[in-house]
Amino acid sequence: MFSDPANLTLANMSELLKKREISSEDLTQAFLERIEGLNPDINAYITIDRAGAITAAKEADKRLDAKQGEPLTGIPIGVKDLFCTKGILTTCASKILNNFIPPYESTVTSRLKGAGAVILGKTNMDEFAMGSSNETSHFGVVKNPWDKSRIPGGSSGGSAAAVSAGMGSATIGTDTGGSIRQPAALTGITGLKPTYGRVSRFGMIAFASSLDQAGPMTKTAEDAAILLQAMAGHDPKDATSIDAPVPDYMANLGDGLQGRKIGIPEEYFASGLSPDVARVIEDAKKQLTELGAELVPVSLPTTKHAIPTYYILAPAEASSNLARYDGIRFGYRCENPEDIRDLFFRTRAEGFGNEVKRRIMLGTYVLSSGYYDAYYLKAQKVRRLIADDFKAAFSKVDLLLAPTTPDTAFKLGEKTNDPVQMYLSDIFTINVNLAGLPAISIPCGFDKDNLPIGMQLIGRPLDESGILSAAHAYQQATQWHTRSPIL
Ligand code: GLN
Repeated sequence: MFSDPANLTLANMSELLKKREISSEDLTQAFLERIEGLNPDINAYITIDRAGAITAAKEADKRLDAKQGEPLTGIPIGVKDLFCTKGILTTCASKILNNFIPPYESTVTSRLKGAGAVILGKTNMDEFAMGSSNETSHFGVVKNPWDKSRIPGGSSGGSAAAVSAGMGSATIGTDTGGSIRQPAALTGITGLKPTYGRVSRFGMIAFASSLDQAGPMTKTAEDAAILLQAMAGHDPKDATSIDAPVPDYMANLGDGLQGRKIGIPEEYFASGLSPDVARVIEDAKKQLTELGAELVPVSLPTTKHAIPTYYILAPAEASSNLARYDGIRFGYRCENPEDIRDLFFRTRAEGFGNEVKRRIMLGTYVLSSGYYDAYYLKAQKVRRLIADDFKAAFSKVDLLLAPTTPDTAFKLGEKTNDPVQMYLSDIFTINVNLAGLPAISIPCGFDKDNLPIGMQLIGRPLDESGILSAAHAYQQATQWHTRSPIL
């Protein structure tokens, strides 16, 4: 029996599987046991699919025995509970979908399964991916494995905690305003948000359709490259997916940093950064220079408008996307409705949590006639200015470096009564989504309480290879990503 899978990277496991030194069934079994042991405390998974995982692992072993394996064949992963998985409960961490068993499969999970990945279960998240702390889940909070009195970040908090705690070799998350990168930073893992349109959104339960993007959450940039390879690419079922060839991410991973220009946006290093984060990012800058990169000061003057712009556009899209939950076609339905109106009203009143309701109200307001021009249309114009800022910066540099979060993980409950404070957690991640760019968060140090800190590398549209190879070069020279919490 293979007993301790938690310290291996996905790439390590892939090698061992290929050489048949371990079987996928043993590996899957070991992860399932670890999940079953840790989940009552960490709460990273909403659903554990033991039977499905074992069946998929046996199938993978056959492929591997026949030397027909791919890099992901037999690799056990977790998937955020907003990807529709045929026949498996998919809740989006909401009461309104607490009984929803999709009749179809998302493109992301279907591609991962096609590549031989084994799905261990569905990971916890903020309800409808709205949140930065994983405290809005109908299925309870997720604890940060580094300090269980703290949040793991959100909305992909379950996916992040699962990787950090070794409850899966890697996981898949989604990022609308930071939900892959922010929890990755707060749990000491690597998280990649691809370019908008690089990965299909088909079968992903929509929050804000012009911003949502799926990506890998892993121990290393190399692992992220392996997963992205399987996930990326055009999908006729998603009209916003980009019809462009997918490069060989693994082949480009060793490109290094020699001669590459990394922009340092001054607005990201202004006030508001905790002293520990500031110190650690300074060290990272030195390291990047030693690896051959040239640091260039740049300015993104519209940065300060990112949060207000996002909190108009994302709720506007959410209010429209969430109109479909009415208790008629699928999901939760209230008991004994008096008439159709009562059924709609009570189903939604009982089925949605407070944060989701807040967003629906905000979104409906900014889209209403009389306010549309003042808020929604104005925000769309500012969104363009934000994208233009990045474009100007990328005419001078190849990549941008920024902190992922202003501070390390905060205490559970600390910001739940103050939505604006919560919204500010994404101050460094949100404008990347508004501009549709790819960005990765990688571990780069710890604060005085031994809590992980992450930094972001932001790339040009479709330059996932560029940010992955830069992150890989950094990880080859540092050890931060190898540390694990003691559980
Ligand atoms: N924290 C942000 C929000 O609450 C971003 C969430 C996300 O990326 N899904 O909307």
